[in-house]
Parts: sequence; structure tokens; C-alpha cells
Amino acid sequence: MSEYKNSNIFSFEIVKKIPGHLGRAGIIHTPHGDIMTPAFMCVGTRGQVPFLSPEDLREIGAQAMLSNGYHLRNVSPEIAEQGGLAKWSGWNGPTLTDSGGFQVMSLGSGLGKVVSMEREKEVTNRKKEERLAIVTETGIEFTDPVTKELDFIGPKESMEIQCRIGADIHMAFDELTSLADSYEYNVEALERTERWAQISLDVHREHEYDLGYKQSLYGVLQGGRWEDLRRSTAKKMGQMDFDGYGLGGAFLKNNLGDILRWCNEELPENKPRHLLGLSHPDDILIGALSGADTFDCVAPSREARHGRIYTHDGYYALNKFKESDEVLEEGCDCPACTKGYTRKQLYAMLKSEDKAIRYEYFKLATQHNLRFIIRLTEEIRQAILEERFEQYKDDFMMRYYKHK
Ligand SMILES: [Zn+2]
Repeated sequence: MSEYKNSNIFSFEIVKKIPGHLGRAGIIHTPHGDIMTPAFMCVGTRGQVPFLSPEDLREIGAQAMLSNGYHLRNVSPEIAEQGGLAKWSGWNGPTLTDSGGFQVMSLGSGLGKVVSMEREKEVTNRKKEERLAIVTETGIEFTDPVTKELDFIGPKESMEIQCRIGADIHMAFDELTSLADSYEYNVEALERTERWAQISLDVHREHEYDLGYKQSLYGVLQGGRWEDLRRSTAKKMGQMDFDGYGLGGAFLKNNLGDILRWCNEELPENKPRHLLGLSHPDDILIGALSGADTFDCVAPSREARHGRIYTHDGYYALNKFKESDEVLEEGCDCPACTKGYTRKQLYAMLKSEDKAIRYEYFKLATQHNLRFIIRLTEEIRQAILEERFEQYKDDFMMRYYKHK
């Protein structure tokens, strides 16, 4: 018997829609708690957000944590033994795992999620043999970047790993194509992703209650930048028995909104959608307008560690404010800003010889940047509920990007 009260529950409730658009505010009910959407999921790849304890996460209003099936694959039996990711990590709230497909494909292509045209050309010109990942019908063969040993992961393996980790939400195993891949290659990869989706679904259903509560599965949509591919796969996957959908792929900034619209117009309205790996404020605003419910990305915490601080007026480099007595951002309600840490103090902490002091900087700066993004999603939700989303979006964008 599971100790979780709502252990068999997974559902999505739409509370309010953005008139004339696909966006909405809603609630995702999971065995480990509710997620009020739109929501940002903090990334704890290995089950912990770097430098933050579960308490530190709760302090900034985090609602859910995303971890990675690939990175946790070797400890997954231990996680299962301890009752699943929420318990094992000490987070005890809603969790999601990625399938690992993106990580192993990234070894091959070296591509991020949103790339510039220059980067696209550079990657296209790289030789195939330099790639570290090879796609086969049953999965992806890759060279482990640490051990240099050959390894393999496919839909079956990914589902078994994710069901041992036991997050509330899992992602089906997919093949991420890069912006450099041709239309023909995308057709081939998409058909494979659809076959893998069915295998993912079958294997997942065998194990979804293994840990005593319902684990849900999202199908992941690919299709590159092509409208016909995006629509046809959304229609097909939309008819499959997934609990929700992951919106995947490499996007160019200027077509993100179109791609999301093509997918979300075809998907069933009553299932939640997660936009994978994007979190710049404009991506989140466009995502929320176009019907994405949840978001994740490592950027806010990674940038904090490098001394890049988010504010409503765009981000800045902390080393430009070595002498400043201002807080990171006036009006911010994160622990660093409410306790009155100045930019000068924080910069000195970042540069300290003392490891414990540097650690404290990493914690405070990560909390600030994550709080900025979480607050953005809270404000978006409020604006949708009060029917003023488009005004909110315009005001935010005007201020955030005016300095660029
Ligand atoms: Zn702050």
C-alpha cells in the first residue's frame, strides 16, 4: 500500500484560457502534489539542484523538480528501493524525469536547444565520424563521455530506468534531430520516434505502479521546423494513450511560437504539455501564450554560477558591479535580496578563497535567478487569470529587452 493520499491520481484541470490563443492557466495533480501552471520546473539533473537543498528550493516557491534518467541510470535501483525520486532526493514534491535521449544525442551533435544560424552552419560542416552517438532502430549507441566505454539506451531501457527512478511524470524516448538535419532525415527520425513512442508506452504501462503510486508518461513531439511534420506527428501521438506531451526539438528563436502552435492545435486540449529545455523569459512568454504549461532549463542556475544575474531590465554581469551597494534587484523577494546582500558583497563571496563562502554565493545567486524565473511564471498565471496576459507580456518584454 502506498502512503501517498492521492497515489493513483494524475490529472490536468484548465482553470482559465487566454482568449483567442492556445495558452491557459491550470493545475496538474500528481501523486506528490499539485503544480499550478504555467510553472517552471527546477533542474536537478542528478536529483538535486546544484547548491540548493530541498528547503532552499521551497524557499523560492519551486513547485517541481526535473531530473534526468540518463544521469541517474546507475543509481536507479537504489532510488527504487528508497521509494522513488521524491523521497530519495528529500524534495518530496512533484518530479519529472527526462528520457536521456536528448543527452545522448547531444553527445553526437554538439547542439543546444536554440541555436543561431552561424552555429547551425558550423555544426553542419562537422564530419559525421566526429559524432559520438549512432542511432539504430532499437535505440542510440554512444560513447560514455566519462568512461569512454560504449553504451546503449533505447525506449525499453529508458522506460525501465525511469520507472525505477519513479518520478511523477516521465518522458517517452525520442530522437532529437538538429537544425542541421534535412527534411528527409527528419521524416525518417520522426517515424522512428513514433515507433519508440509506442514501445515507451507499452513498457511504461507494465511498470507504472511498481513503486505504489501512479507514474505518468508524456509522449515527446519532434518534427523539426516543418509544419506538415509537426502537425502530423501531433495528430498521431495525440491519439495515443499518453498522460501529457513533451514539446521537443531544436528551435530557432523566430519560429518557436509557430512550432508550438502547430503542435498544440493538433494535441488534445485536456492534457498537459511541457516545453523541454527552454527558459529565457521571451521563450517562456511565447510558450505560455502558445499553450505550453510547464518549462525547465539549466540556464538560470548555470548563469548564476557564472556571475550572470537576471533582473526585469535584462541580465547583467556581477563583475561590472564590484563596488555597488545595491541588492541584486530592487523589489526581488529571494533570500539574498530580502536579507540585503549587496552586489559588492556577493562579488567578493564569488571571488573568495574560502570554499564555504563561495558555496554560499552559489546558493544565493542560484536562488535569485531561479526565483526570477519562478516569479515570472507566477505573474504569467496571475495575468492569465485576470485576463491581462497580452498586456503583461508586452510590458515585460519592453522592459526586459530595451537595453539590448
Ligand atoms: Zn533576488
